[in-house]
Amino acid sequence: MTFDLVVLGGGPGGYVAAIRAAQLGFKTACIEKEAALGGTCVRVGCIPSKALLDSTELFDQIRHKSEAHGISVSEPAMDVAKMHARKDAVVKANTDGVAFLFRKNKIEWIRGFGRLASAETIEVETAEGMKPVRAKNIVLATGSVPVELPFLQFDGERVIDSTGALALPEIPGHLVVVGGGVIGLELGSVWRRLGAKVTVLEAMPTILPGMDAEIVRAADRVFRKQGFEVRTSTRVTGAERKGDKVLVSVEGAEPIEADYVLVAVGRRAYTAGMGLEEAGIRLERGVIQVDERYHTGVGSVYAIGDAIGGRMLAHKAEEEGTAAVEFAAGKHGHVNYDAVANVVYTWPEIASVGATEEELKAAGTKYRVGKFPFSANGRARAMGETDGMVKVLADDATDRLLGLHIFGPRASDMIAEAALAMEFESSAEDIAVTVHAHPTLPEAVKEAALGALGRSIHI
Ligand code: FAD
Ligand code: NAD
Repeated sequence: MTFDLVVLGGGPGGYVAAIRAAQLGFKTACIEKEAALGGTCVRVGCIPSKALLDSTELFDQIRHKSEAHGISVSEPAMDVAKMHARKDAVVKANTDGVAFLFRKNKIEWIRGFGRLASAETIEVETAEGMKPVRAKNIVLATGSVPVELPFLQFDGERVIDSTGALALPEIPGHLVVVGGGVIGLELGSVWRRLGAKVTVLEAMPTILPGMDAEIVRAADRVFRKQGFEVRTSTRVTGAERKGDKVLVSVEGAEPIEADYVLVAVGRRAYTAGMGLEEAGIRLERGVIQVDERYHTGVGSVYAIGDAIGGRMLAHKAEEEGTAAVEFAAGKHGHVNYDAVANVVYTWPEIASVGATEEELKAAGTKYRVGKFPFSANGRARAMGETDGMVKVLADDATDRLLGLHIFGPRASDMIAEAALAMEFESSAEDIAVTVHAHPTLPEAVKEAALGALGRSIHI
């Protein structure tokens, strides 16, 4: 089998690269070992987590928010098996969707585990035996896997990774989450909303380290009010299984008894055992090294997505996939990393793009800040969702937008405006003078931009 371009890995980076390659006229194949296309994101990441977050957010609204709207309901009950069945159906619709796009674009899916045998050949272990696949161009998009702590190894039953936490058969009495990052808070939210006691153990002084500190402080306060027990600067030293319980030991404190322990301390590039180094590809701590064209320096082999490091986000992987294929086709590809938004799908949500205030301070940049609370936004009041704020950071001299951070309802949808503004190198004034429909949540973005100019209207 010979192709113009072969992608190794069918996640959001890989499948988007394959589709772009087919659009550019390449005879394209994608090698994926799992039974469905879509990668971590579609099978065990973004999509199933958001399906569970939507189910449990609805549950939470019925339980805690309907009364204020004058709606009386009896105590709602969650059928966990049905919730999972719905999530599985959502995942299937998406994996089937990718398979449909492959057929539509005449991309061949070669199911099996691929190993790079040379710069032009991938050997695929398929159900029918070893198949050599030859390609003029190769895109490595092998993704990432959860980091395992040596002293807290996954047992697949009670000490689990994110995939385990997406499929718990019951609502835990006590879920201990090791790692107060995005997975810990999202999946912790799912089970907390259903009634689990959730304790988050974070090694650093704050949850979500690296995000804008003021936004994180605001979110931390709300998460605690929701019932999360958050313990920062906390070192876990091990865990002992006692029947159906796990005793988690923590430095300087009493051990914590948990029904389940979710270990969510980050992900690492998945690149071992695929012949990469043998083929001359440079890896650093497992991360594939590429130049600004996503080229590995070997033949016509490119690499993208979680496997090349940087922020592990599906949309980042997709853009890199597109750019790498465009370079392979002799065109120009480009990813504007300053405009890659980052979202934490808790409720309220956290979304940001560009620099944090701490980063601007560290760089010695002179900046202005504009803030606007959702408590002063008409739509947020109508929704009864007044927690949170928008924060705009603009260059003091030029007014150029440097960063925009939101903690609030549907921040995930609102951040698109900020990403567009970053892409267009807009000023805070550009956002401030743009007419925003009333009454809408994004008016808070406009007001925060007005704030950076010292002229918010509604506060
Ligand atoms: P992956 O999606 O990891 O895909 C790589 C694929 O390659 C896999 O399917 C793998 O089976 C296959 N593969 C690897 N090696 C081989 C081989 N040798 N042979 C054959 N096949 C191979 N990101 C967001 O942007 N938004 C979110 O809301 C979000 N939520 C997440 C929630 C969870 C619980 C998790 C775990 C992750 C989440 N992410 C989210 C991160 C996102 O899933 C990843 O950043 C994204 O999937 C990376 O895409 P990728 O194509 O680089 O790799
Ligand atoms: P993360 O990097 O977001 O968070 C890991 C947290 O664990 C950090 O706060 C870190 O300080 C802490 N930590 C590390 N070692 C620890 C230890 N020994 N004890 C206690 N805490 C420790 O990683 P994650 O939550 O595992 O998620 C992995 C990646 O998946 C994310 O970085 C993100 O790129 C991606 N993801 C994205 C989304 C999204 O976009 N909404 C959702 C889920 C996952």
